[in-house]
Amino acid sequence: MSIRSITTLPAPVLRRKARPVTRFDADLQTLVDDMVETMRAAPGVGLAAPQVGVSERVIVVEYAEDEDENEEQVEEAPKKLFVMINPEIKKVSAETELALEACLSIPGLQGEVERSLEITIKGQNRRGQVMKVKARGWLARIFQHEIDHLDGILYTDRATRVWQPTGPVEDNV
Ligand code: ZN
Repeated sequence: MSIRSITTLPAPVLRRKARPVTRFDADLQTLVDDMVETMRAAPGVGLAAPQVGVSERVIVVEYAEDEDENEEQVEEAPKKLFVMINPEIKKVSAETELALEACLSIPGLQGEVERSLEITIKGQNRRGQVMKVKARGWLARIFQHEIDHLDGILYTDRATRVWQPTGPVEDNV
């Protein structure tokens, strides 16, 4: 495993539509392992393959269960890792939520983005088996942000406003 460098704007790969993964081979396993390590080192809560310069439909998300429910228990909450290949959003709630986002590929900025509160995603795991995830709140937001990356869309395209925060940005994706 190794930490890869994170691609930042204006790298063209961030604006490209990533191609579907068709081979679940050793190269894919290496890419997934490297993406997990790179996300943790950043640190970030999600990462899409174009963010390490690879135009393929692969995302990783790591999230502590009650992060948005009870902030005092963040340190205690177990983290859950999701690896999704060829993810597709199958269902979205009518209800939306406006919240803060930042991106490892756009350093020094954050913005407010309206996202669906609840989504259902279908994709494959790293072995190619079909998997489905139902996500709500912060987790649903991370997935929407990462899947956008696979289509060359950045949060700043969707943000109602973007600004330079005075302090450090937390929870980069
Ligand atoms: Zn991002």
